[in-house]
Amino acid sequence: MIDPFGRAITYLRISVTDRCDFRCVYCMAEDMTFLPKADLLSLEELERLAGAFVDLGVRKLRLTGGEPLVRRGVMALINRLGQRIGQGLNELTLTTNGSQLGRFADELVAAGVKRVNVSIDTLDEEKFRTITRWGRLPQVIDGVMAAKAAGLRVKVNAVALKGVNEDEFDAMLDWCGRHGFDFCLIETMPLGEVDQDRTDQYLPLSTVRQRLAARWTLTPTDYVTGGPARYFDVAETGTRLGFITPLTHNFCEGCNRVRLTCTGTLYMCLGQDDAADLRAVLRGSDDDAVLRQAILDAIARKPKGHDFVIDRAGRAPAVARHMSVTGG
Ligand code: SAM
Repeated sequence: MIDPFGRAITYLRISVTDRCDFRCVYCMAEDMTFLPKADLLSLEELERLAGAFVDLGVRKLRLTGGEPLVRRGVMALINRLGQRIGQGLNELTLTTNGSQLGRFADELVAAGVKRVNVSIDTLDEEKFRTITRWGRLPQVIDGVMAAKAAGLRVKVNAVALKGVNEDEFDAMLDWCGRHGFDFCLIETMPLGEVDQDRTDQYLPLSTVRQRLAARWTLTPTDYVTGGPARYFDVAETGTRLGFITPLTHNFCEGCNRVRLTCTGTLYMCLGQDDAADLRAVLRGSDDDAVLRQAILDAIARKPKGHDFVIDRAGRAPAVARHMSVTGG
């Protein structure tokens, strides 16, 4: 699948649920209204859709959410998708908050998952509770250690939040290094109304990189995972440090991905509103050729990029939907 700007679309992110067991302050409002369960695609429908994408050239699938591991029966989907690895699909992976990894790590490995991204914004228990509202850090750390013990490669993702976790990045990089985990920092993106002012949270990662470079020997690398992060080798730990910078450095020119929600809406860009309703197509016909054509029609509309800005003048989010809907 080649989009109008010559980019090959090889990566599909699927939000399997908009629900989550955490309520991270920058991601969701505390009092979220979730989609009615009846609107959700069944696991079988998600599998059929994912299969159509793989048939069209998608090589990497990432399950996300909401929290993917709180969707009931999700392991059945993961097992079925795992069977496509080596048959068109190169990689099946997940982004998770880690709370359920203690339960699922071994099953994930058995299904063919080799690595997971775990979102951990702080290693301070109190702060963790404040950021996630509902999360418990020890449960997440146990989950991460279960993942490591099961043989999963772990990358820790942290959203950089001004005045909240910026004093911890050294310690987090050190902790990740000691456990053999890559560490990746993400700029906060203006997605959906939350209860706080994002201007107060936004921390440009160009500044953070300079600060970290004072203590760590960071060498740029061309290592890529199919995602938008730019990586540095960290000499002292032997692991990598990544930066995802949608604001200070727009990464759209290399965009290779589209995002499917749990209701079958395909977003061709995280930061734009245009979308295709694949659920109607899926339910309207058993013919996968019709589905594939609908996907190709959507890819033909993929926009050039997002235009995120965070400033006080434009306090409205760039797009109204939360990250938990599109799937971060
Ligand atoms: N529940 C899973 C998790 O915690 O990783 C998957 C879904 S979560 C929406 C995916 C990622 O998006 C997390 O790393 C989260 O921190 C990040 N995220 C959520 N809202 C964001 C925002 N407004 N800006 C930047 N990252 C955000």
